[in-house]
Order: sequence, then structure tokens, then C-alpha cells
Amino acid sequence: MYDALSDSDCRLIVQPLLQWFRNTKRDLPWRHTYNPYHVWISEIMLQQTQMDRGVAYFLRWIERFSDVQMVAAAEEQEILKYWEGLGYYARARNLHKAAKLIVSDFAGEVPCDYQRLLTLPGIGPYTAAAIASVAGNYDIPVIDANVTRVYARLFNIGEPVKEQKVQKRLAEIADKLLPPGQARAYNQALMDLGGLVCTPKNPDCSKCPVAGSCRALEAATVPERPVVAKKRKIITEYWVAGIIQWNGKIYIQQRKNDAVWGGLWEFPGGQVTEGEPDNNVVPSILAECGLSVAFAKPITKVVHQYTHHKIILHCFLCTLAVERFEPVLRSACNYRWIKAEELEQFAFPAGARKLLEYIRVNQPNLLSTHF
Ligand code: SF4
Repeated sequence: MYDALSDSDCRLIVQPLLQWFRNTKRDLPWRHTYNPYHVWISEIMLQQTQMDRGVAYFLRWIERFSDVQMVAAAEEQEILKYWEGLGYYARARNLHKAAKLIVSDFAGEVPCDYQRLLTLPGIGPYTAAAIASVAGNYDIPVIDANVTRVYARLFNIGEPVKEQKVQKRLAEIADKLLPPGQARAYNQALMDLGGLVCTPKNPDCSKCPVAGSCRALEAATVPERPVVAKKRKIITEYWVAGIIQWNGKIYIQQRKNDAVWGGLWEFPGGQVTEGEPDNNVVPSILAECGLSVAFAKPITKVVHQYTHHKIILHCFLCTLAVERFEPVLRSACNYRWIKAEELEQFAFPAGARKLLEYIRVNQPNLLSTHF
């Protein structure tokens, strides 16, 4: 059981937090105008992305797509290219679809209304609340990972935060604390506090504006808060991929939209069992795209981790074994034979990008060889 929050408890948290935000708020580009289009892009980009990285991508994006109409009019490939490296590419494809809907249904104005926002692809309750409160200053609380951590510590919540009853309790706390008419400042203050001071490891309680109200600090339980359920085990997968060269060109294929990394391009290959990747590359490529290749040579091994998977990708340089360059697309929806210098124009998942970066740095002439 938890104590109910009194009005004076609320004042002791809300006022110092707002004051702290006024004094220390980060100079983020979308905070200059709170333009709903900018806030929307920043919210989508910052999901699963560090702030510094998110800002750099945001600035590059806004330079190319200054408004929602430009996003709607762009080709999906270009959208993915500007997203390349941020991961979770469904976000970019949804953003593209949402931009088209905003142009067709909302006269090109990104809505700030919570319910309208929820009708758009890629916008769930959290993102809708963030855009509505930050861009529109609507009285809607926001509960993201940072806010959850802050509240779990402030109120010394000793149960796993993902549990339904704890989620309910967090929603009640958030509702009660939200100061009417100040959602924009309050929500951002909380998010900044979680990002800068009340960090997952080593929170700097000496700089915290609400330390005087922090029950976990008082109970010396800060390192144990928030309580999280046990982590899922990381699964290791072994893959092979071949860069196939023919007549001075390289084969790439595009992943189907409903697949992981949908819409991105890749070098063909497949999952293999651990060990002996050399023996698996030729049959894997044949099985996946119908191209018969002669095994050429290993290039490198790249390791990439996403969510609960660790991918060990063995990469090879291959040539066509027979003069048949029309693939049979099984797991892909499109293909191209391109020159090495055109690779830059296509968006690749992290594993393939690591491979290309390895080649650029260590074997810069590798792909200029003409077979
Ligand atoms: Fe977080 Fe420390 Fe502030 Fe408590 S006092 S809210 S643990 S930074």
C-alpha cells in the first residue's frame, strides 16, 4: 500500500522541479519554437536513441525536410536513408505514412490533439501524450522510462514497474502531480531530470531539485529502484552474407516491408549453425536468391546486437559461378546490380553498414576490383 499524495506533497515536488527546469533546461532545437512538426520528429527519433545522437539526426532531417509536406512527397528510400543508423526502421516508415495522412486529412498541420494524434501510424499513447503536452501544452501527463525511474525513486516503489498495478499507481501519481496549464514545462522537466540527474546508474542526488521529497533517498534504496523484472537472455545467431560482384557491379536486395529491417537493402545470405561459415555461404546465397556463386574469400566478421539478439555475421566476397544474374527473390522484394560508389545511396541495416565501414577503412580497394 502507498500513502495518498497530499496537495502539499505535490507542491514540494512540482514547484522546485519547474524552477529547476527554468534555470537549467537543455537548449534543444525543437524547444526554440515548439513547432508541432519538430516536436513530432524529435519524439519519434528519440525513442531508443541517445539525446546527442538524436539531435544530430534531427538537425540533418530538418535541413532536408523542413516541413511535413516535404516528408510526404519524398520517396521511402530517401526517408530510410535519412533514418539509417537510428534502427527500428518501422518508425521511419510509419512516420512517412503519417506525413501523407497529415497532408491529406489534416491540411498539412501536425495535430496537437491527443485523440487525433492516436489515429496516426507510429503514434501510441506515450508519443501522443508527449506531442500534445510539449507542442500543444495540453494537460496530459507523460510517463516514459525516465519518468518511471524518477517516480519509482521519489515514491520508493518496491515492486516491478512493469506490473499492471504499479503502472496504475504511476498513472495516478502522474495525474495528481501534473500542474494545470504547465504540462509543457513540467513533463519536460521530469524527462530532463531522469536524463541528466536521476540517471539509471549513479544518480547525482546532490544536484536533484526534489531530493528533499525523495523517499528512496531517505530509505537508502536508490540503487534498487526502479525494480525491474529479470532480463531476458541474449540469443546468439550466426549468419553469413556475400558481396557478389559481377561485371563491375555488386548485387543488393531489398528486404520485404513486413520483415525485420523491412525496406532496407542487404547482401544476400542466411542464418547458419555455429561453426564452418565458409561451407555455408554458397548454399545460403543460392537458397535465398537463386544466384549460383563461386566462393571467393572471407572479408571479416561483424558483430551486431539488437534487442535480445546478438548477430555474428561472417562476410565474404563472391563472384557469380555461372552467367545468370537474374535472382529468384524469396525473402526480398526488389534487387539491383549497382556500382560500388552507389552503395552510399542505399539504406542498410547495422550489420551491413559495419561491413561497409570495415571495407572503407581496411580494404578500400576491395570493391573496385572488376570481375
Ligand atoms: Fe533521483 Fe536522487 Fe533525486 Fe531521488 S534524490 S529523485 S534518486 S536524483
